[in-house]
Amino acid sequence: MEWWVYMPKVELHAHLNGSVRDSTLLELARVLGDEGVIVFSDVEHVIMKDDRSLHEVFKLFDLIHILTTDHKTVTRITKEVVEDFAYENVVYLELRTTPKKNDSKGMSKRSYMEAVMEGLRAVTAVDVDFAPQSLDARTSLNRIPMNGTCHGATRRKIYVPNHEEIQMMLDFLPNRIGHACCFSEEDWRKLKSSKIPVEICLTSNIRTNTISSLDIHHFVDLYNAKHPVILCTDDSGVFSTSLSKEYSLASSAFGLGKKELFQLARNGIDYIFADDEVKGDLTEIFSSAAKELDL
Ligand SMILES: [Zn+2]
Repeated sequence: MEWWVYMPKVELHAHLNGSVRDSTLLELARVLGDEGVIVFSDVEHVIMKDDRSLHEVFKLFDLIHILTTDHKTVTRITKEVVEDFAYENVVYLELRTTPKKNDSKGMSKRSYMEAVMEGLRAVTAVDVDFAPQSLDARTSLNRIPMNGTCHGATRRKIYVPNHEEIQMMLDFLPNRIGHACCFSEEDWRKLKSSKIPVEICLTSNIRTNTISSLDIHHFVDLYNAKHPVILCTDDSGVFSTSLSKEYSLASSAFGLGKKELFQLARNGIDYIFADDEVKGDLTEIFSSAAKELDL
């Protein structure tokens, strides 16, 4: 096993719907094809593809939207997504999803969330405990808080915030910022003085043409400025990536070694939404992994 797979990791920007396994999508699409809801041959090649174009990315998001409208499927994908992250040694996961309402399937926003929670309870790869009176789901190894997402409901367009909106967002002092693309010099100055951690999704930025190439990615500048950053997947299924692949990519693109990437992952503990007890547990996990990996 490669060390970036073996190393413990923290995932803070992953969307449930975008993280569905290709094999599951294929199976669900086949069923809907048989039922005449979709034309299977129209979508098969998009599901099977690895390096999807922006057009295909949107096509897949549309398909996922159609495929995940019933409770059973929502439960299934939640379970699988958590297990996939656990499998690659993600020891803490914050998964985002927007509660959806679908009258034709008798789905309310509440029942959607219940289906998600059912999926968390069904996870067998790791133990999941539920913190009382919150939507936080905890496990001894994997921590899985659910939180609302700040992304828009539709992903048809890549949303490009304007300067005024970015400034307002920075003034609001959020706990973290996703992507931080399309910033002006002034935005960067403000961000850096704020020390707001940035969730960096390399493959996602490239696939959606938000950043033209990794050589000019703002990760480098932020990392060199010792600004808090954390590598994340965004939509591991749609962008055919994994958190391990993102670490491997950062290693090859930015020349970061094992020690630097381990430290990068460990720093993520400071930016999580969970409480100090969880942070303490994670610190221990990383400390023992550091010994094992001889770091
Ligand atoms: Zn996102």
